[in-house]
Amino acid sequence: MNVKNAAPGPCVGRFAPTPSGRMHLGNVFAALLAWLSVRSRGGVFLLRMEDLDTQRTTGEYARQIREDLQWLGLSWDLETPAQSLRSPVYDRYFALLQEKGLLYPCYCTRSQLHSVNAPHLSDGTYVYPGTCRDLTEQQRRAFSRDPAWRVRVPEGSWCFTDRVQGEYCLDLSRECGDMVVRRADGVYVYQLAVTVDDGESGVTEVVRGMDLLSSAPRQMYLQELFGFPHPEYAHVPMLLSADGRRLSKRDRDMDLGYLRTRMTAEALIGVLAAAAGLMETPQRISAGELASRFSWEMVRGTGIYLKGLEEFL
Ligand code: GLU
Repeated sequence: MNVKNAAPGPCVGRFAPTPSGRMHLGNVFAALLAWLSVRSRGGVFLLRMEDLDTQRTTGEYARQIREDLQWLGLSWDLETPAQSLRSPVYDRYFALLQEKGLLYPCYCTRSQLHSVNAPHLSDGTYVYPGTCRDLTEQQRRAFSRDPAWRVRVPEGSWCFTDRVQGEYCLDLSRECGDMVVRRADGVYVYQLAVTVDDGESGVTEVVRGMDLLSSAPRQMYLQELFGFPHPEYAHVPMLLSADGRRLSKRDRDMDLGYLRTRMTAEALIGVLAAAAGLMETPQRISAGELASRFSWEMVRGTGIYLKGLEEFL
């Protein structure tokens, strides 16, 4: 199925960090491009804390992220409620899937799912083989543990045109399998929460890291079921160090806690703007000034090397 991108209208973008640590250069890069895309067109920018995983996320990290965004000059118009507060809302969408007869309980254990027999994809995720899809009521009753809940996915490919990555397709039934929407402990999963939140906030464009590219077709399927229009997508490449290494959260020196003691926001934004292709060489610039010269055509799709950072440190 070929999915049409968002309808024309006011542009609404968002930044949806998981407050499980200090902002890292990769998060700053995604936030900057999401912000530039919206602000260059006079749109609305939302902030949302994705704190479903209460074990890993803290209010202190959320506070720190807001403060870091302010330091960067990336203002938001509204902060929508954090995901940990929205279970009753997600319950309604869960019930909708239930009414459509698309949900079933899954009793598979983690070790069964990760067994060597499960086909694994190149990105490390596995294809759910449908083990619990057609269990009888009697078979279900025989399990004494709480189930996770999966939504059936249809056959066929979901394709869309990403602003940065171009055409992308994923066959959910062959490459993903029926998706968990609620875990056995009752916590809703990212795919459901993000679809509901973006849909209810009227988000028209989703800009985020390339690691979430394969989530877009999963979310498009849920958008279709919930009756939300599809936003446009832009998945921005991961940052590479000047020697070609992918920067990761392990590079502690690349978090804002360290960088803010060493450089100004304008210097950091200049380095990221040059890496993206928005400037020839890194020069100090504010986010606001950069917005006036931003266009997606200028943004590189691959090989985003972080050059010139050392000069400012
Ligand atoms: N919360 C996710 C993260 O911090 C981003 C989700 C999204 O932008 O859809 O990686």
